[in-house]
Amino acid sequence: MAKEKNSDLMEKIISLCKRRGFVFPGSEIYGGLANSWDYGPLGVELKNNIKNLWWKKFVQQRDDMVGIDAALIMNPKVWVSSGHLENFSDPLVECKKCHHRFREDLLEDKKKCPDCKGELTEAKQFNLMLKTFLGSVDGWAEWAELLDRLIILNKAKNYQEIDELIKFGVDAYHKTGESTFYFRPETAQAMFVDFKSVLDTCRKKIPFGIAQIGKAFRNEITPGNFIFRTREFEQMEIEYFIKEENWKEMFEEWRKEMWSWMTNELGLDKNSVHELDVPDGERAHYSKRTIDFEFDFPFGRKELYGLAYRTDFDLKNHFQEPPYEDIETKEKIYPHVIEPSLGVDRSVLAVLCNSYKEEDGRIFLKLNPKLAPYKAAVSCLKKNEPNLVKKAEDVFHDLKKEFSVDFDNRGNPGKFYGSQDEIGTPYCIMVDFQTLEDDTVTVRDRDTTKQERIKINDLSNFLKNEFI
Ligand code: ATP
Repeated sequence: MAKEKNSDLMEKIISLCKRRGFVFPGSEIYGGLANSWDYGPLGVELKNNIKNLWWKKFVQQRDDMVGIDAALIMNPKVWVSSGHLENFSDPLVECKKCHHRFREDLLEDKKKCPDCKGELTEAKQFNLMLKTFLGSVDGWAEWAELLDRLIILNKAKNYQEIDELIKFGVDAYHKTGESTFYFRPETAQAMFVDFKSVLDTCRKKIPFGIAQIGKAFRNEITPGNFIFRTREFEQMEIEYFIKEENWKEMFEEWRKEMWSWMTNELGLDKNSVHELDVPDGERAHYSKRTIDFEFDFPFGRKELYGLAYRTDFDLKNHFQEPPYEDIETKEKIYPHVIEPSLGVDRSVLAVLCNSYKEEDGRIFLKLNPKLAPYKAAVSCLKKNEPNLVKKAEDVFHDLKKEFSVDFDNRGNPGKFYGSQDEIGTPYCIMVDFQTLEDDTVTVRDRDTTKQERIKINDLSNFLKNEFI
């Protein structure tokens, strides 16, 4: 029963996202592409508000943080040194009957196929790095040509040419290898690789952090649950560089920061967030301690963010010499690292699930006003009264200079309030006949539905108090 209710909730959220322009299925007019999603006009505002709030809190308002924005495709040696080419994998199992593939650690019953109950194979490690080719070698096309040619030669029993072609093939194989690159599976490595350049340009002393927001790519075995698990997603990550002896204390500090972000900025209900101290043997290859922050999504309790103590693993792998000189002792060291790692798309989803409310016959998103796509919306009581319409347009254009504001020209208060509630607009401003007499408007609060009259001249300050 509870399960049914939860899947209903997820369907309602997905439908609202599509109907109101938060998130659309990707490439939809071509039949879509499984598990790819596009953020629409309201979704991009919500997502940008989350990213901007994060950047403001963790980069701009701190003295010990700088940001970077690195390339998505890095030198493949990065992934050799970081251990990703060897270790960044998930256990893959395949059903012997229907041949569907699954990530073993996410299965409740590890012996039976969840789709047809067939027997599953033994798990093998599947690397999640997403490959691409750069430059004038088109690996797959050249391989296809080569195979076609081999088939023809084989039919003609032309063994000498087959021999030569195989030698050419080995050569081509190496060339394909040289032109194979990887989309980054995490933003983190750029912060390690650029560590010295940042130090040389920013005069920072440890403890300090490098932050980045950007796309990451993983060839996930089983993507799904809407924008929760996709092959292309965005991360907000910090690599916070410290002295080894301080790691426990710093870990606790970042743990508090994560809670503050989730409950204050995102406004998540603290009872819906849980910590999982990831046990030995289940942590990523680089981590000595990891806490997963899990959120009660409608489809179950799942990882929202991670906080990891990455030791000096990454800097040691990338730099032959210790890259940091202690200002006081002049000792050269490899700083250790605490990493708060946050998914942007999972943040959007958690915020939507947390804020979706159905009360007294109305649907509304109880978003933190700072995250709301529109801070306010303006309308007028009647659409056929030119004076009212003109006044409402003036109020709208004035507010638009400072805030993200919507305009509704339907002249239908019921529809206006309902449609703005559904997208989480905190304030609805109505121009009515009294406005023409005393320059006041009604301002309706999304959560209480209470209205108050405010002078048009005071609207900007009223909204500033709420949002800035
Ligand atoms: P999971 O166990 O769910 O696969 P993970 O432990 O591999 O996640 P991390 O490597 O710690 O994830 O990545 C940091 C954060 O990036 C995650 O907490 C999540 O918010 C986000 N993230 C990771 N993989 C995906 C994905 N495939 N789609 C969307 N967000 C993701």
